[in-house]
Amino acid sequence: ATARPLLEVQGIDVFYGAIHAIHGLSVIVNEGEIVTLIGSNGAGKTTALGAISRLLPIRSGDVLLDGRSLGSVPPHDVVRLGLAHVPERRRIFADLTVTENLEMGAFTVRSTADIASRMDEMFELFPRLAERRKQFGGTLSGGEQQMLAVARALMQRPRILLLDEPSMGLSPLFVERIFDIIETINKRGVTILLVEQNAHMALAIASRGYVLKNGMIVDQGSGARLRSDESIQAAYLGAH
Ligand code: ATP
Repeated sequence: ATARPLLEVQGIDVFYGAIHAIHGLSVIVNEGEIVTLIGSNGAGKTTALGAISRLLPIRSGDVLLDGRSLGSVPPHDVVRLGLAHVPERRRIFADLTVTENLEMGAFTVRSTADIASRMDEMFELFPRLAERRKQFGGTLSGGEQQMLAVARALMQRPRILLLDEPSMGLSPLFVERIFDIIETINKRGVTILLVEQNAHMALAIASRGYVLKNGMIVDQGSGARLRSDESIQAAYLGAH
């Protein structure tokens, strides 16, 4: 099958006031791929995802979803077009139960039967959440909250999921789990753009990766190539 770009980021620039955080960033994510964006603290990974999902304004360049410009699409409509974003530090609703958090994720879905079937699917994918369905979000462990954040985004049945540091702050066991789940979700047909500081694991599951430094792409290639690259190992894989 020929690769078809689902997401095309075309030379975007993003500023925070006078700070030029992202310089001419271009990224392509083909339908069905897992693509990762790696880089050190402050490289601009979070900013890039925010710009793609329209939470942050783009100064120049464009973002296309399935060939359509998101330039004038407001953030809540971006979700309807099939792009879901799980931000850093999860941001689940602490005072709502697991079930209620998932219902909030399905805000664009009208049919209650449809919501129920999606919820069943999430409880099958995340048995841990099923056991805790009546528990308040704020009382879940960090790993469970991350699972809930991912499940809530999946309630939209997105075509592409943007994940910002899903492994952050998790114990090694939960890190493994989260990466397994990302692969499972991808096999079920969801395209993934993954931002990670855990570059080693991210490159292991990604077909391709981009290396971001000071808001610019400094390298790109297959996950395997980047993983075996000595300069990348020295800069980003040393700690793992
Ligand atoms: P981290 O992994 O530490 O979150 P990152 O690669 O995601 O790093 P960003 O958070 O995107 O990096 O930050 C990119 C640059 O933009 C940094 O220099 C940062 O200081 C700056 N920046 C981020 N948010 C803001 C903001 N709200 N106001 C001003 N500058 C910001």
